[in-house]
Amino acid sequence: MTAIAENLSVVRKRIEEACLRCGRNPSDVRLVGVTKTVPVERIREGVLAGITILGENYIQEARKKIELLSDMKVSWHFIGHLQSNKAAVAAECFDWVETVDRESLARELNRQVQKRGKRLSVLLQVNVGEEESKSGVSPGGLPDLFRAVSQYDGLIVRGLMTLPPYFDDPNAVRPYLRMLRQLLEQLREAASRPEELTELSMGMSNDFEVAIEEGSTLVRIGTALFGSRST
Ligand SMILES: *Cc1c(COP(=O)(O)O)cnc(C)c1O
Repeated sequence: MTAIAENLSVVRKRIEEACLRCGRNPSDVRLVGVTKTVPVERIREGVLAGITILGENYIQEARKKIELLSDMKVSWHFIGHLQSNKAAVAAECFDWVETVDRESLARELNRQVQKRGKRLSVLLQVNVGEEESKSGVSPGGLPDLFRAVSQYDGLIVRGLMTLPPYFDDPNAVRPYLRMLRQLLEQLREAASRPEELTELSMGMSNDFEVAIEEGSTLVRIGTALFGSRST
């Protein structure tokens, strides 16, 4: 086995064990391999080992990689901060955008996917810690953003995503993850198509097990699969 394949099997095992601990079905948690700064050949190795969803943060970097890996059957999720003037590339290259955090961006994404006769799955990014340094709608602004984004036929709102405050102790992040789940439940109660609102993208290398216990359906894992990123 290659190093990445070995890492993948360890991560999968940990996902499974976390699911068993809290009575969830492991097939309800999907793994997003986060590949920012990871070279194409290592990504290819990851896909050959069985990763089926890849997450990228930077549009220009991602565009090149997606082209070079166009022979691989994977789904691409955009997980970085998206400027509206890059919405066209995002609409062209990605299957999901996990970081919709304002109506102006949703409007532009919708325009771009409709031009291409496509629909795009999106998540609304929530800044659960209300941190200055992070993108995301504030929890208080989420209902309005949800109503606004829901009117765009080219976008399917599938759930919520967050990048919570960082703690060395993964247990300390639990209240923020729980908040995201509660926010999703509140949206579902008011939504006209609650069956579409099923996804919670939360949990990274240091806290994915806690995130699974709190209801995560998409864990975004970079370091634990591909090693630490050289900057
Ligand atoms: C980099 C990144 C990740 C993965 O982080 P790791 O700690 O390497 O697992 C997940 N989500 C987002 C939004 C990221 O930018």
